[in-house]
Amino acid sequence: MSQNQFTVAVIGGGTMGAGIVEVAASAGHPVRLYDISAEAITRAIDGIRQRLESRVSRGKLSAEQAQALLSRITPATELSQLADAQLVIEAASERLEIKQALFSQLAEICSPSALLTSNTSSISITAIAAGIKHPERVAGLHFFNPAPVMKLVEVVSGLATSAEVVEQLCACVSRWGKQAVRCRSTPGFIVNRVARPYYAEAWRALEEQVASAEVIDAALRDGGGFPMGPLALTDLIGQDVNFAVTCSVFNAFWQDRRFLPSLLQQELAIAGRLGKKSGHGVYRWPVETQPELAEPTLAADAAAQVAISDNVTKLDGVLLLETCGETALALSVRHGCPVVVYDHSAGDTVVLAASATNSPAETDKAIYYFQQQGKKVLRIADYPGLLVWRTVAMLANEALDAVQKGVACAEDIDTAMRLGVNYPRGPLAWGESLGWGTVLRLLENLQQHYGERTLPPECTAAPKGATGDAS
Ligand code: NAD
Repeated sequence: MSQNQFTVAVIGGGTMGAGIVEVAASAGHPVRLYDISAEAITRAIDGIRQRLESRVSRGKLSAEQAQALLSRITPATELSQLADAQLVIEAASERLEIKQALFSQLAEICSPSALLTSNTSSISITAIAAGIKHPERVAGLHFFNPAPVMKLVEVVSGLATSAEVVEQLCACVSRWGKQAVRCRSTPGFIVNRVARPYYAEAWRALEEQVASAEVIDAALRDGGGFPMGPLALTDLIGQDVNFAVTCSVFNAFWQDRRFLPSLLQQELAIAGRLGKKSGHGVYRWPVETQPELAEPTLAADAAAQVAISDNVTKLDGVLLLETCGETALALSVRHGCPVVVYDHSAGDTVVLAASATNSPAETDKAIYYFQQQGKKVLRIADYPGLLVWRTVAMLANEALDAVQKGVACAEDIDTAMRLGVNYPRGPLAWGESLGWGTVLRLLENLQQHYGERTLPPECTAAPKGATGDAS
């Protein structure tokens, strides 16, 4: 693949294929678009034309540039018409047998020096390359939707992919004005794997009735600094699509419980409550509801004498502690005083939980204290790790696991999460700044909390000979 404007072939003219055609043609390449459906090709080219016209009318592109770009795109009705392509990007439907059939034909049709890539989100690149000629030139080139807008491209190596091919693809991606990150072909690659806890933690909190959907989303958005709350985001992605990706990652990791799909989300998906596209998911769209903010119940008594020593804040006799993954109740029993725990907050909003043994007046002091600092306060049930801390720790944990297993380097993982899903910080940089010791303590406390729950004392104390009722 030389640096001049070689021919690019795109297979599949759906959502992703059309976007990728636009990207390659904008970069000056002649592009051939092949799809089994002639209608899909026409629709894709019409869609590109409309997007270009809109850019021309907004003064972002000249009419000549738009015309030149369109003239570089040629429909292909036979796969054999892709023979002169130096780079093929397959974006056909997400089924292994379709991709394998296409790649084995491409390996015969195209020159041995042509790079054959797939935009698959979840299929193993190793499996796509298996059994074809020159599997070392097969790789993943995973664009994000919408491809012309999103900066990130994951360059995915299968078992046989050569290092040289990866370098050539990364260079091409950066010439196209995008950011490449390198990763190995493992389920979910980087973004779709490391992002799983963002959704899973929110579903878990909703299932455990810790707070309303509005409060959970506001905690992550306005407290954590994420561009969108996780539940609203699943509505935007589509409950069916997001649930299917979670199930695919869960099954690909041999049903590791850390990727466990949510029963609640499954209910929404099977009910057709798919989110924005069906008008109703977690929310009714457009979303107009607001989270309920906490207010002191006894405003007159809420002001307290504040004493801060060794990073411990006391509001009269009430201990105010940043969460470490233990419940406020457990901390209250240990310290022998009323306790309120608060969440990591990078924005104007903070999440609190109070021990059930606190009086309302005691909890009020913490609400008032944060309000005096200009923070909006969200109160949730006494939940270990609260919402932001817990989510960030789980994201950092997942990112560390990916580094440890050689899926990608730390820098690429952080870049992928910032550009692929617009996280305010990469999870590893975030973990580093919060302190790895503290992240570890929080995760260990969560493990202890849930470990106890999965093996309740009643089970271990069951009388000998007692039989279970398997249902
Ligand atoms: P889509 O359903 O919009 O389009 C798929 C196209 O492939 C259709 O036009 C179909 O006619 C065509 N097709 C099916 N079989 C074919 C064959 N044998 N030969 C040629 N064309 C064929 O799908 P999409 O959302 O554009 O996804 C395409 C690929 O990109 C999938 O592998 C998907 O996992 C991946 N992807 C999707 C997204 C996304 O957000 N939609 C993001 C990243 C990656």
